[in-house]
Amino acid sequence: MDWAEECDVLVVGSGAGGCCGAYTAAREGLSVILVEASEQFGGTTAYSGGGGMWFPTNAVLRRAGDEDTIEDALTYFHAVVGDRTPRELQDAFVTGGASLVDYLEIDADLEFQVLPWPDYFGKAPKASATGRHIIPSPLSAKGIEDLNESIRGPLGRERNGEPLPGHLIGGRALVGRFLVALKKFPGVSTHLNTPLVDLVVEDGAVVGGIVEHDGERRAIRARRGVVLAAGGFEQNDAMRAEYGVPGEARDSMGPWSNLGKAHQAGIAAGADVDLMGEAWWSPGMTHPDGRSAFALWFTGGIFVNQGGKRFVNESAPYDRLGRDVIAQMDAGSLTLPFWMIYDDKDGGVPPVQATNVPMVEPEKYVAAGLWKTGETLEELAEQIGVPADALVATVARYNEMAAEGVDEDFGRGDEPYDRAFSGGQSPMVPIEKGPFHAAAFGISDLGTKGGLRTDTSARVLTPAGEPIPGLYAAGNTMAAVSGTVYPGGGNPIGASMLFAHVAVRDMAKR
Ligand SMILES: Cc1cc2nc3c(=O)[nH]c(=O)nc-3n(C[C@H](O)[C@H](O)[C@H](O)COP(=O)(O)OP(=O)(O)OC[C@H]3O[C@@H](n4cnc5c(N)ncnc54)[C@H](O)[C@@H]3O)c2cc1C
Repeated sequence: MDWAEECDVLVVGSGAGGCCGAYTAAREGLSVILVEASEQFGGTTAYSGGGGMWFPTNAVLRRAGDEDTIEDALTYFHAVVGDRTPRELQDAFVTGGASLVDYLEIDADLEFQVLPWPDYFGKAPKASATGRHIIPSPLSAKGIEDLNESIRGPLGRERNGEPLPGHLIGGRALVGRFLVALKKFPGVSTHLNTPLVDLVVEDGAVVGGIVEHDGERRAIRARRGVVLAAGGFEQNDAMRAEYGVPGEARDSMGPWSNLGKAHQAGIAAGADVDLMGEAWWSPGMTHPDGRSAFALWFTGGIFVNQGGKRFVNESAPYDRLGRDVIAQMDAGSLTLPFWMIYDDKDGGVPPVQATNVPMVEPEKYVAAGLWKTGETLEELAEQIGVPADALVATVARYNEMAAEGVDEDFGRGDEPYDRAFSGGQSPMVPIEKGPFHAAAFGISDLGTKGGLRTDTSARVLTPAGEPIPGLYAAGNTMAAVSGTVYPGGGNPIGASMLFAHVAVRDMAKR
């Protein structure tokens, strides 16, 4: 093999996992090359306005008075994930977060703070009503303007041409902080526009990777190993179809470059896969560009199907809501779009406080046929093509229940997360002040979560359960530790960081 470059650790991808893996390698005194397929660092991670990490009992939470125990966190995680993923893998994630935070906090460039965020299964044993969740502290772009430019997002800039903010927050701050921290160490190089397209296998061990840059292929030797932290394959419609992932690339939140090439390279090297039909789901508010985007934080409104009937707890965590939508589509009882019905209390704009992709001018939604208005509910029903008597009856029943503050039909408001955006009060806001409005919704995802099966050190396994020497996976390239559920905000980013970190620690030991 004609090696163009050599390093101890080759990291593939620059989201939460890739950055944390590269950082860990540098801290452990290993030389590291990070290759990123796209023109910017950060991946889906950089689109996150929160950048939240689910790391129970970590020092940041502790300093804020958190009294959670690791036993309780394990009880919760086991209860919601069940036996869909190996128990020891679950335990590695739940118990590993606090020490990872200790490890990172030693570095003054890596700062975190608490953002209370209830667990997503509020009725499960030992669910936390305040959450097990921290976020990166914001980072000023002053003095690091070039670095700010080199990080993906925010979504408002990418999709709507908004100016680049002078502060990095959420996932952009997380990625920015890692990139700043990495500058301190020798032996670190990062390459943009350099996708990994293949792995080099010698005598059954992965010893490097083949990357593409400017139309040329180059081989990079990795003396200790390769960490695939290249996100999901959500932007690859052919792979979505092959593995049965509902929805379309267009409506996924992952960057264009999450095409599954690292998954394919891993599979070609003998890796087993799991959970390949799975994604992190959400309802998607449809924008005038025709794309439905992850939306949450509803301060009113109800969802109705084509029969004019409610079908779901509208205040449920987005992944549970998305899964309900998919289940009903599969059962034939729901077709897209479904509609959010709301009244005129706040004018014609839907009561969605976190659209992630910022809303554009209301006229554009109206012109695109996505937002409709009727003086009466009957008129609105005609506009959206649902039976008028059903819509009138649905709103009347909902308003009756809202007056009592109890949703007997779908349990809206029964769990702490449902009430997180209404100051702990019932989220059942009556729909009474005409004119009445409807906004079109589809199904979106935050990325796929099926991938290469690993052990607790993030070593990639063959179908026989044997580790492939030198090959590791994390984040959405790894079969998710959370299986078919989304236990709490911060799971995707937290698991991506944790398993990339343990992967490199494992390499450092060998
Ligand atoms: C609006 C929004 C908010 C969110 N908020 C949160 C939150 O607060 N907490 C949370 O836990 N999760 C959140 N999520 C989900 C979370 O952002 C992602 O699931 C997570 O960031 C994925 O991390 P990752 O490291 O696996 O991959 P990514 O962050 O997607 O990074 C993968 C990188 O790999 C690169 N890549 C792909 N293929 C190759 C290749 N062949 N070679 C080299 N590079 C490659 C990609 O270009 C990309 O840059 C949110 C998602 C969205 C959209």
